[in-house]
Amino acid sequence: MKVHGREYEIVVSVQKTFRGSHSLPARPELHGHLWEVEFSVSGPLDPSTGMVCDMLVLSDFFGPYTRELDNGNLHELPMFQQADELVSLTAKYPTCDTLAHYFLWRITPDFEKDPRFSRLRLCEITVCIWEENKSRRWGRASIRPRGT
Ligand SMILES: [Zn+2]
Repeated sequence: MKVHGREYEIVVSVQKTFRGSHSLPARPELHGHLWEVEFSVSGPLDPSTGMVCDMLVLSDFFGPYTRELDNGNLHELPMFQQADELVSLTAKYPTCDTLAHYFLWRITPDFEKDPRFSRLRLCEITVCIWEENKSRRWGRASIRPRGT
């Protein structure tokens, strides 16, 4: 859409959380985190609804993908045991970076074949890592198409 001669798009995001434990070389004991995932889509504004997409619809769609990881040891989840090299790296190093890639890999085929989202694109997934009690956010990683 054009605003004062410049092209813009509206990005709509919904957040989901899950709990999962991991260990990493810098902190080798198994410990838990709260993981917050933001799923962002973009597309044309629908003049009949005033929305790019209903956030309730998006929330219902993305919910199962974080629920299926909830309360697990992230090193042992079967969904990370895949032939895809980067997905299998998630089991070895469950980080914001590998999880962002995993969610994009896991969700894109379902998103693209869902007729409700035919005019939308999944433009970014951001994974934030929090202390388990949400006292501190350590950081985040995002995955998005190159150049955006
Ligand atoms: Zn950690």
